Amino acid sequence: MERAEELVKSGRWAGRLLGGAREAGTRLLDLLYPPVCLHCDAPTALADGLCSLCFRQLRPITAPLCPVLGLPFAVSMGDDAVSAEALADPPPFRRARAAVIYNEVAATIVSRLKYGDRPELSRFCARLMAAAGHELWAEKPLLVPVPLHPARHRQRRYNQSAELAHAIARLTGLRVETGLVLRTRRTRQQVGLSGDGRQRNVAGAFAVHPDIIGRHGGRPIVLVDDVYTTGATTRAVSRTLSRAGVSQVDVLSFARVVVGADLPI
Ligand SMILES: [Zn+2]
Repeated sequence: MERAEELVKSGRWAGRLLGGAREAGTRLLDLLYPPVCLHCDAPTALADGLCSLCFRQLRPITAPLCPVLGLPFAVSMGDDAVSAEALADPPPFRRARAAVIYNEVAATIVSRLKYGDRPELSRFCARLMAAAGHELWAEKPLLVPVPLHPARHRQRRYNQSAELAHAIARLTGLRVETGLVLRTRRTRQQVGLSGDGRQRNVAGAFAVHPDIIGRHGGRPIVLVDDVYTTGATTRAVSRTLSRAGVSQVDVLSFARVVVGADLPI
């Protein structure tokens, strides 16, 4: 056993003390802020996740689904079968995909990510989104977040779609271009607006940055958004991109409203 005097002389005491303090600090932080479920605040083993009960309530969107709108089908109707919604109102984008159906658990996560000053929740969402968008990655697209108006960005301090895009980029190795699409007109929040109202609200609200688009001529784009509700916003951005010469636009969101399985937003 080393004597205290020798420890002090050799200077090793400092390392031991610091190491001990660091460990105690981590334990103290865990005691003060133990990781909790993103939805119900029950204790969890790891930070930024859901407890097993809430995780089971998430409803991942998996095949069979509409190849255009990504709407889940109850039964497989063949690889090329398109949903009635996509036939009735063909979107200006190629494909839309989403990780989960917008239900109560998804709504809490989105609202905490968006309004709760919790950008770190994007890591959880991005893991599910990277998997849900697996068909979109083969062409090495650019990830482009749906932009916020600069005034709203200042108010909220971060753009939740940009946080999602960066988190997906870390998982897929793809590149993010946050400045490619700009929101040139401040629009009112889409919440509470009807389908037509939402379309009118975002019509002409976006523009494409001429220099940035020039740098990426012809490269496919995946628009990243938190929730796909009626698609009004992503349709408006896709039209703006298409007018600027981008022909291949896909859409990836964390949650998607599915009529009959959703909550009103
Ligand atoms: Zn929970």
